[in-house]
Amino acid sequence: MVTTLSPCWYCSGLVRQFNIGAVVIGEATNFHGGHDWLRELGVEVLILDDQACTELLGTFIHEHPELWHEDIGL
Ligand SMILES: [Zn+2]
Repeated sequence: MVTTLSPCWYCSGLVRQFNIGAVVIGEATNFHGGHDWLRELGVEVLILDDQACTELLGTFIHEHPELWHEDIGL
């Protein structure tokens, strides 16, 4: 699976449920999801720390905090 940001706990659970063996994550700076847990379970996790992904999500959170907090459940 390839994601822009660290997977939320719902998505992390789906990775586990469907036995997905590897997750490539664009960035985990703006949001730290379940990737540590997945790694502990033996899922291969690659965090690219991609500047474009970090700016994309950072800008979205800054400009639409109500949508971000609604979606991510914080
Ligand atoms: Zn999710």
